[in-house]
Amino acid sequence: MFTGVVADNIVLSYKPLVYARSILIHDGRVVYAGDPGFVEKVVNLFGGDLYDYGSKTIIPGFIDPHIHIDGLALEEKIVDLRNTGSIKEIKELLKKYAEKTMGWIIGRGWDQEKLVEKRYPTRRDLDEVSSTRPVYIIRVCGHLAVANTLLLEKYIDRELFNRKLVDPVNGLVYEDAVHKILDKSLALQELEKLLKKIMEKILSMGITGLGWVSANLQGLLAINRFTERKPWTRIYLEPNTFSQWLELGLPPGTLGVDGVKILLDGSLGARTALLTKPYKDKPDTVGTLNIDPEKLEKIIVDARNNRYHVAVHAIGDKALDILLKTYHETGCHGERIEHASLVRNDQLEKIRELETHIVTQPGFILSDTWIMERIGLERIKWAYRIKSLAKHSKALGFSSDAPVEPVNPWRNIYAAVSRGEYEELEISRYTIEEKIGIKEALYHHTRGSAKTLYIEDRGCLEPGYWADFIVVDRNPLEIMDPRELYKISILETWVNGEKAWSRQGI
Ligand SMILES: [Zn+2]
Repeated sequence: MFTGVVADNIVLSYKPLVYARSILIHDGRVVYAGDPGFVEKVVNLFGGDLYDYGSKTIIPGFIDPHIHIDGLALEEKIVDLRNTGSIKEIKELLKKYAEKTMGWIIGRGWDQEKLVEKRYPTRRDLDEVSSTRPVYIIRVCGHLAVANTLLLEKYIDRELFNRKLVDPVNGLVYEDAVHKILDKSLALQELEKLLKKIMEKILSMGITGLGWVSANLQGLLAINRFTERKPWTRIYLEPNTFSQWLELGLPPGTLGVDGVKILLDGSLGARTALLTKPYKDKPDTVGTLNIDPEKLEKIIVDARNNRYHVAVHAIGDKALDILLKTYHETGCHGERIEHASLVRNDQLEKIRELETHIVTQPGFILSDTWIMERIGLERIKWAYRIKSLAKHSKALGFSSDAPVEPVNPWRNIYAAVSRGEYEELEISRYTIEEKIGIKEALYHHTRGSAKTLYIEDRGCLEPGYWADFIVVDRNPLEIMDPRELYKISILETWVNGEKAWSRQGI
């Protein structure tokens, strides 16, 4: 059986730019692109459906290679603290949530820079919200959190105190402990239930495929049990789950597992991204390393020996040095680097030599409004070098890193094209040369992202590729003012040649 799709503008590929008037789909893949008359003839002859979208535009579906689905699930039950201006306001929002719910009270998105108190909240602040239920609030970057006294005393493993990842005095929780504690709040059944909502949302944003990073065993189970419509999914397990997984001796690709995601440093927001020279606005710190280089090397070698891939989070330029050195010394070509937010010129050359895949988040440009104060004028040129990374990496993909940033691919396209120009962000003035065009940005969120996931037959609509596409009401390639990108409406999302989501409902 065949499916025929006809529209005035069907973008088969961005690089080179190729349009067609129709495509023919068989067994989930595009088998022909071109003459609508021929497509109609085949559908009539062999049976199947013909979809005529008239003046609408069809483009390849977006791919998000670095997204935290479990984080998004929690988001559904988490109080949004992103716009809070004081600790008092945080407390009020949490109390309001607590009145209507039971169990953990979780908030996320606060940023001490935006709070009038200009300090981190403490466990004593949270004890005022509740002393009988766990209260937990995560900073906007996801690398720092605060727990109330009950949570500290009853729910946190000793090991995390011993490793100094939890400060018992103020209740601060650092780095990988942030998620270890959070994981305890969500049960498998609850996650499975929430997946329906999340996958619908992701499809409605035009995302047809994704890389779930830092998944744990529970996440792996949940996604494989979930049989409803969803984008295709590749999994990068968090290191502990991954080492258990390797012991099973299963080949790569089983249950969608492609590899391991390792957290090398922190974030610029929390001043934990590892820099060569101290932070401009906190000269006594250069950030932190989350894993020692020998352990990093061991995980990478183990993964590669078993033919699994590695995706390593490196934000600061020093973290990137360590990672590039490790990739070089272990002979790892073509592996993934997540973020690469600060990249020096000498590192660009190494990225080229090592044929690295980079997964960047253009949306960070819009969110990191404080970046100039953090790193100063000399280093601002190293920040979010999208054009340079596109040139030097083997593959460059765009991702949201949701729930760190919203799941909206248009936001990434907009940010890569405008670099904060319309928001009058300083970074836009100093990094104009890193701007790219809409066509290039769309390429990196589709074919480029597929490549970062080592997928050779997705991300465009040429014959032979999987038919993953979206129907939109305007052709993004005809937009002159990037702010108009946000107004594009996604009408339908197709995955593997089947309609998976429609604005009208299916
Ligand atoms: Zn992430």
